[in-house]
Amino acid sequence: MTNTIEITKAQTSKIHEVDFENLSFGKVFTDHMFICDFKNGEWQQPEITPYAPLTLDPSARVFHYGQAVFEGMKAFKDDANKVWLFRPEDNLLRINKSAERLAMPEFPKDVFMEGLKALINLDEAWVKPGFGNSLYIRPFVIATEPAIAASPALEYKFLIICSPAQSYYSGDVRVLIAEQFSRSANGGVGFAKAAGNYAAQFYPTSLANQEGFQQIIWTDADTHEFLEEAGTMNVFFRINDTLVTAPTNERILDGITRKSIIQIAQDSGIAVEVRPIKVSELIEASKSGALKEIFGSGTAAVVSPISAFSYKGDVFEIPKDVKSFSSIFKEKLLNIQYNKSEDPYGWRQSI
Ligand SMILES: *Cc1c(COP(=O)(O)O)cnc(C)c1O
Repeated sequence: MTNTIEITKAQTSKIHEVDFENLSFGKVFTDHMFICDFKNGEWQQPEITPYAPLTLDPSARVFHYGQAVFEGMKAFKDDANKVWLFRPEDNLLRINKSAERLAMPEFPKDVFMEGLKALINLDEAWVKPGFGNSLYIRPFVIATEPAIAASPALEYKFLIICSPAQSYYSGDVRVLIAEQFSRSANGGVGFAKAAGNYAAQFYPTSLANQEGFQQIIWTDADTHEFLEEAGTMNVFFRINDTLVTAPTNERILDGITRKSIIQIAQDSGIAVEVRPIKVSELIEASKSGALKEIFGSGTAAVVSPISAFSYKGDVFEIPKDVKSFSSIFKEKLLNIQYNKSEDPYGWRQSI
């Protein structure tokens, strides 16, 4: 396979039709997309083309058996109009890990990095400067082979599409601790960014929404005793001045924001415990006043503070703290992402 990407530019740009002050997340896409087909056992010529609908055979396996994995990442523009990515290789490693679990082919890292950078260079005007503005990047892989036999497809498409985003304030996030439904199972695909994990979450989350909770804190499928993730984010608990988060395993997604926060916390002298944490411990900590914060972590919102949780009908409110750990982590991460501070970790990468 050749690494030289074939580029077909869009005739005109849609950028002037976009109201960048009023973006709703993930609805507007840039002028171009990256696309690469897999067939005859190998990835074919990678291309950048005008953003356009795909034509797929109705029997394409993705429609029937959900062979689909994806990633979420962002590009940021600094005050000198330079564009930066955040730990992009980690996204490629993870999409390949997800792909392996769904019996899909891995994508070569050099082609990914080259394609990603070429695509963002081409659509650079869509990355708006200013804190909070970013370009949300969605790489994904789907099984396209037209055949409904229940076995792994022999043909796939790898795509990257991009959507301009503003920082969003999610409002007060109140969460329900899962007692019945599960996000993932032992030996399952919880660690993978598999499309089906999201589909399976929509129904229980909509039930929680009806009860006035925006998200679910997922617990382990066996006992529902251990806290695992918050919605589609990893979850952190601050008990007194110690930060606690569950170790990643086959049921928990290994978030890049999560591991960055752990690193920053440790380097800021904050005690971090990566260990299983029980619902009962959380309730006791809440009752004694030791529970100071709960927050989710993920690329889209960086951190998402949680203001209350509910378990077996009881609601526990979490006091608001102006000097929260989550706001400290958010600021430190954003400063690295927007090139406003030193990056001792080498996480930031220019395009
Ligand atoms: C994507 C995702 C996360 C967050 O991962 P980041 O790399 O931090 O964006 C956490 N949990 C689940 C289930 C996810 O799908």
